[in-house]
This record gives sequence, structure tokens and C-alpha cells, in this order.
Amino acid sequence: MADAGNAIAKNKVVSIDYTLTNDAGEVIDSSKGREPLTYLHGHGGLIPGMEQGLEGRSTGESFQLVLPPEQGYGQKDPNMVQPVPRTNFAGVPNIEKGMQFQARSPDGSGARVVTVIDVSPETVTVDANHPLAGETLHFDVSVKDVRDASPEELQHGHAHGPGGHHHH
Ligand code: ZN
Repeated sequence: MADAGNAIAKNKVVSIDYTLTNDAGEVIDSSKGREPLTYLHGHGGLIPGMEQGLEGRSTGESFQLVLPPEQGYGQKDPNMVQPVPRTNFAGVPNIEKGMQFQARSPDGSGARVVTVIDVSPETVTVDANHPLAGETLHFDVSVKDVRDASPEELQHGHAHGPGGHHHH
């Protein structure tokens, strides 16, 4: 039941159900059991490959998008893997591989998640790459709703309402 009059295009508010799996078929993220993800199309709300793949689709369509790292979270940057003195983790009694911490960026512009990839008596090696960097992303997507954005949503650059931003 594609409705050509309400295809996904810039300034449409789009609601999607999605499940993200990696190459190994492991589910990384899913909207199942939650409200659909609602975003304002064409404003950088989703990763670029995702918005490109959704462009022109309509309510009721279900499809798969396979995005190489370049269209997802980029390749892993080896410079973002760094040893940190263990004393920096003084408040953490047991540091193990796979643990994740919020680290503040040096310029204070934001926090990012770092993952512990190695632990020695003196140092902890952390990887500050996005956890999905280097991964090919497999999205199963269902378009649940497409509507025109309100003037307020266009002004804010994001969607309001269920699954979108909540603020007044
Ligand atoms: Zn807003």
C-alpha cells in the first residue's frame, strides 16, 4: 500500500521499526518492544546510509539495508586505541576486558564511550572508537508512519511526540 504522496523525503517525520544485526547475525539494537524510532528526515538525525536507504520509501514498506562501515560508523581508527595508566582507574576495583567507561574528551565538548580491550598490572588499554566502527550494519526496517513536519519541528531540526524529542 505505497502512498506516493507520502514518500520519505526531506522534512518528513518518519517512524520506523528496526532491528540492527552485525555480520555474525547478532542483534545489536532493536526497536522491538519499544516505541518506533521517530526522526525528522534530511536533518542528520540518522546515520547517512540509513537516511539514503529510507529516501522515497512509504508507510508499510519493509526491507533490509546493508551498510558498509563507510556508510555507518566509519572504520576503526588505530590511533584511538591507547594505553592509559592504571592509576586513572583508581576508583574501579576490578577492571576487566570488555568493560565500558564514559570518558570526557580533552576539549570538554562531550563524553564518549571507551571499551577496555586489554589490562596489564600497569596499564589499561582502551579503545575509543565507536563500538560499531568497522562493522557492516544490517538493518531490518519497517516504515510505520510518514507525515509532514510541523513548523516547530522544522525550526528545532528534530521530531516531536512519541519516539521523538520530548520537551517544552
Ligand atoms: Zn524540539
